[in-house]
Amino acid sequence: MKILLKNIEEPDYTGSIQDYRRKGGYTAVSKAIKEMTPEEIVEEVKKSGIRGRGGAGFPTGVKWGFIPKNTDKPIYLICNADEGEPGTFKDRIIIERDPHLLLEGIIITSYAIKSHQAYLYIRGEFVYGANRLNSAIREAAEAGYIGKDILGSGYNLDVQIHRGAGGYICGEETALLESLEGKRGWPRIKPPFPAAEGAFRCPTIVNNVETLANIPFIINNGGESYAEIGVKNSTGTKLFCLSGHINKPGIYEFPLGISLRSLIYEHGGGIKNNNKLKGVIPGGSSMPVLASDEIDVSMDFDSLANIGSALGSAGVIVMDETVDMVDVSLNVAKFYAHESCGQCTPCREGMPWMRDIISRIKDGKGKKEDIDTLLDITYNVEGKTICPFGEAGAWPIRAFVNKFREDFEKHIN
Ligand code: SF4
Repeated sequence: MKILLKNIEEPDYTGSIQDYRRKGGYTAVSKAIKEMTPEEIVEEVKKSGIRGRGGAGFPTGVKWGFIPKNTDKPIYLICNADEGEPGTFKDRIIIERDPHLLLEGIIITSYAIKSHQAYLYIRGEFVYGANRLNSAIREAAEAGYIGKDILGSGYNLDVQIHRGAGGYICGEETALLESLEGKRGWPRIKPPFPAAEGAFRCPTIVNNVETLANIPFIINNGGESYAEIGVKNSTGTKLFCLSGHINKPGIYEFPLGISLRSLIYEHGGGIKNNNKLKGVIPGGSSMPVLASDEIDVSMDFDSLANIGSALGSAGVIVMDETVDMVDVSLNVAKFYAHESCGQCTPCREGMPWMRDIISRIKDGKGKKEDIDTLLDITYNVEGKTICPFGEAGAWPIRAFVNKFREDFEKHIN
């Protein structure tokens, strides 16, 4: 069952508006605007059960329902295309290879939340993607899907691209809003949540690229059909990014609920050089690593949470027996120390402390008590910061230490 890669996997598909329409594209926008009220669309999306694909997994329809009724302020939709989680490269393929699928999702969502202005906040490094989107917006406007009086309905929508500058934290929705407003990308204290007070202090919905790209299918086929795909509480298909020591790395689309073992051994072709598996990060670098005996888990929001990890962005990083987990955790710690925005002390100070301690351990200068100090720092960061970046940096380090303590001890001894 393919929803997101259906077009892309066709060998001659170019992503142009002609190709997209040939494959049935823009029928959902026509159905939504001509036959449905905004409230009916929100209801359909709630019925689908789709949860946000950016990492947090919040139910999309419920989020849309938080927009205040009868507000006299403008309402904004922001598509978060700031994909920056290490091990994650799924939104980029939609942007570059099927930009109209994303635009159709943006148009329907804007209409559903009664927004007349959508912004596509795209990662600064995605130069090609930004160019592709610009051309697609032009094509869609010429065809009457964007602009004034869309399809003769009287509904107006402007879509603009805003390019970021490559800061990881600008993928966090409130940092993104600050950046969009032209300020430093510092996360805001919540509440207020963006649905009540977002861009320019107006009601705003921020949705990830993959989330929005699912909306045309939901409108064309109905929320209930979508809800039949996947498993309870994790409906629909998901893009999984397979990387690391795997024979067939790449982007795969499967219904949520596929087992991690099947992803790695069946679809990913197994471990390179027939080596043994040592560990897997299931959802991008900020999610706790799984040991090799934990891969019979169902890849869905609840099952991964139940074993102490998370689906995150579904960036699956496979590591074989040759990997030293001290190296990996140093790499991760360096990244989070570098990307901390510096607003809160536990994050600003804790991330470099972890980096420095792991670095010392790696250089053979570690002390026995360093391992417990590392764990102690993770607990002093988690839950004590403005944004979830604190957990994103603390959780993986704690999991590396707890599950692969012998790697750390080997260096120390
Ligand atoms: Fe900035 Fe880190 Fe605080 Fe988030 S947790 S606001 S990244 S200092």
